[in-house]
Amino acid sequence: MLRRFGFSLKWRSWMKACVCGGNLSILVNGSPTEEISIKRGLKQGDPLAPLLFLLVAEGLGGLMRRVVEIARFRPFLVGSGEVPVSLLQYADDTLCIGEATIGNLWALKTVLRGFEIASGLKVNFWKSCVIGVNVPSDFLNMASEFLNCRIGITPFKYLGLPVGANSRKMATWEPMLESVRGRLGLSNQHKTCWVKWDDVCRPKDEAGLGIWDLRLVNISLLAKWRWKLLFLDTNVWKQVVIARYSNDVIGKRNLGVLDIPRNASNWWRDLCHLDGDSNWFSLAVGKRVGRGDSTYFWNEVWVGNLVEGRWQWNLLWRRERFQWEEDQYHDFVDVIASFIPLDNHDKWLWLGDGIQGFTANSAYCQLENNVSNRRILVPVEEFVFKRIWKCAAPSKVRAFVWQLLLNRVQTKDNLLKRKMLQIDQQMCVLCGRNTETAVHLFLHCDVAAKICGLLGGWLRVRACYMNGSGVRSIVCVDDCALWSVPLLVSA
Ligand SMILES: [Zn+2]
Repeated sequence: MLRRFGFSLKWRSWMKACVCGGNLSILVNGSPTEEISIKRGLKQGDPLAPLLFLLVAEGLGGLMRRVVEIARFRPFLVGSGEVPVSLLQYADDTLCIGEATIGNLWALKTVLRGFEIASGLKVNFWKSCVIGVNVPSDFLNMASEFLNCRIGITPFKYLGLPVGANSRKMATWEPMLESVRGRLGLSNQHKTCWVKWDDVCRPKDEAGLGIWDLRLVNISLLAKWRWKLLFLDTNVWKQVVIARYSNDVIGKRNLGVLDIPRNASNWWRDLCHLDGDSNWFSLAVGKRVGRGDSTYFWNEVWVGNLVEGRWQWNLLWRRERFQWEEDQYHDFVDVIASFIPLDNHDKWLWLGDGIQGFTANSAYCQLENNVSNRRILVPVEEFVFKRIWKCAAPSKVRAFVWQLLLNRVQTKDNLLKRKMLQIDQQMCVLCGRNTETAVHLFLHCDVAAKICGLLGGWLRVRACYMNGSGVRSIVCVDDCALWSVPLLVSA
């Protein structure tokens, strides 16, 4: 099979050595046994394994294409363009799609069995299932018995996403949210947010935590599809899109001008409305016109923006110009003079960073720049906020300092502002003489200063810091390790 893919003899012998050679020894009571030659198969976790698996799985794709070619398997035809789709593969997730006919079942069974014999892989029928869309249940029962697998129901999961569910419904996403919550260790209970989410999402040098704004991430990932749609090639997904939404969708800077069909998918709607009123995407892509083979004469800008050298136009006219048209003629020549055709195909450019072409990351940066309310920090603030995250303290200490610098710690004055305390409860918990604010607690409170002094004494650290204003240092004590964090205090 590798030979038919066109791999050379040398490469194939390497692969053979990797797969068939290889020794294995087992740790028994902590000491390795004699090496065992495993003869066949890669070791578990071998980085080659997934790559070779893809090559083998491509064999299944080849088989399916062949049965479709010789008309033994009738694939599903998409849209008015009738693009045949018979197989979707992603690693070991495989989806065969076709019409519900007896002939197709036979062909499918033959292909799968043939693939098993040829590749030595086994199809796990127990994990496979057959799903009918508008198929009578008699047929489905028969198919499940024939293929020896279960009957599945929609929505089912493909690549971890529910297929056939309503993506606009909250309930569809609830299991996924739940798993994310589980991973983050969040529960459903309500907690007070101390720092605004917008502030948290700011970059670190703007006093945020540099967390990605998910809405913008989503838009930039969608923009990647828009970028890919600028080019015409033979990817299956693009053929499917063309079959459903016509050829007009390729090479368009702005999809919003198209009519969105009534039965368009949510994904397509989102894609069309991606840049909405702001047109940020259209503005971020440009085109270097070469011979003009994919550029519209009337609808696109193809002059201007171009540099030295003059191109001589030899314009052909159907008739002689009238005298009064001469001025117009000269204006026209002036306009087109700056355009120089090149002998290359027209090429789309991503103006975002100008070098790499489109990346979701540069789209994200662009979107973030468009959000105009950037916070400008004074240099000393910028210095401090940058320094916090480089400090060697554990992250919880750094996070606390960050919260403190923004004055978002749970001091009594802050609790009072959020109406979580009564007005008569706001005195300092340590000295009881002043209102408990962050500045008081960390700089002016006598009791706190004494405690810090004593701690410093026990640990033999001479550090103090507890009065005045301006940039000072606080020393954080955690598990007997010390970190100095520059602290900025406004008087
Ligand atoms: Zn106090």
